[in-house]
Amino acid sequence: MVLLCGGAGFIGSHMAKRLRDLGERHVILDSFEKGHRPAAGGSPVVEADLRDRESIRRALTTFPIEVVIHFAGSIQVGESVRQPAEYWENNFVGTLNLLEAMREAGLSKLVFSSTAAVYGEPEVVPIPEDHPKKPTSPYGETKFAVEMALSAYERAYGLRSIALRYFNAAGSDPDGVFGEDHDPETHLIPAAILSAMGKTAPMQIFGTDYPTLDGTCVRDYVHVMDLAEAHRLAVRALRDGAPSNQYNLGNGQGFSVREVLQMVQEVTGLVIPHSEGPRRDGDPAVLVASSEKIRAELGWSPQYPDLGSMVSHAWNWRRAHPDGYRS
Ligand code: UDP
Repeated sequence: MVLLCGGAGFIGSHMAKRLRDLGERHVILDSFEKGHRPAAGGSPVVEADLRDRESIRRALTTFPIEVVIHFAGSIQVGESVRQPAEYWENNFVGTLNLLEAMREAGLSKLVFSSTAAVYGEPEVVPIPEDHPKKPTSPYGETKFAVEMALSAYERAYGLRSIALRYFNAAGSDPDGVFGEDHDPETHLIPAAILSAMGKTAPMQIFGTDYPTLDGTCVRDYVHVMDLAEAHRLAVRALRDGAPSNQYNLGNGQGFSVREVLQMVQEVTGLVIPHSEGPRRDGDPAVLVASSEKIRAELGWSPQYPDLGSMVSHAWNWRRAHPDGYRS
C-alpha cells in the first residue's frame, strides 16, 4: 500500500487520482492546513501533521504501508525568504519526523518531492542533475537539506529514495475534476487566470529587468499528470530494487512570464489585468530542465508537454470551479 503525504494538495491529489484509476491501494495523509477535503477524491484519509511524529507513527502502523510518496511541504519561494523558520520546520523537520517514523516501522522506499530551486542560478542550461546546488531561497535550501538527509539515511539504514526535482508544476486533471487551488494563489498560471476572471486584484509581473529575452523570468512548465506518472515510475523502480536517485522533471523548454501571460490570454480569450513590479526575492532568472536522465532510466515520456494543454486544463477546471474547491 502506498502512503501519500500531502495527498490532498495540488500534485498529491492528482497522484491519488492516478492511483485510484490504476486500482492501486493507497492512503492519503494530510493536515488539511493547505490541502482540500474534496481533493482527496474518495481515497482513504488520515488527518495528521508531519510536525507531530506520533501521528505519523500511528498511520504507519495502522495501515500496511510499503512505500511512501512525500508531497507535503511549504512551497512558496518568496514567502520562504520572509518566513524561513516555517520552511525549516515544515519541510525539513517534518520530513525528518517522517524518515524516523519510517525507520522505526522498517520501511525502506520513499519518493520525495524536490525542486529545481535546489540549483539556484544555473551555470548551464538545460540544467542536468549533477549541476552545482546553490539554492537562492530557504525553500530550495530546505529541499536540498532533505536530499542530503536522504543520502545519509540510505548509507546508515538502507532507506532507498528517489527525489524528483520538479520544475514548474502546471495544468490540472484533463477530466476537469481536480485542479490547483492555493490561498492566496501565488503561482503564475492560476494567478493570471484569477486576475483575468476578476477574482483577484490585477496581478503583477515580478521583475522586468532579468537578463532574458523580454526581461521577465523564464521557467520550464510541466503538466501535473506527467508529474504523477513520474511518481508511478519512481515507485516501480524502487519496488524493483533501484538504488537511490535524483531526477529532474521538466520539458526542456523555457517560457518567459510574458509568454505565459500571452498563452493565458489566447486560451481564455480574456485580457489579463496586470502591472509590472520589482523582482520577487529568491527567484533565479532562468530555470530550464534537462530531463534526459529520467527519460533514459525510467522511460518517462510526458503526455502533455505543450504549454497550451497545461493552460487549457487549468482554465477548464477554474472556469467550472470559480471559487476553487469551495465552488
Ligand atoms: N510570477 C509573476 N507574477 C505572479 C506569480 C509568479 O511574475 O503573480 C513569476 C515568478 O516570479 C516566476 C514565475 O512567474 O518567475 C513562476 O512563478 P511561480 O510562483 O508560478 O513558480 P515558482 O517558479 O516559484 O516555482
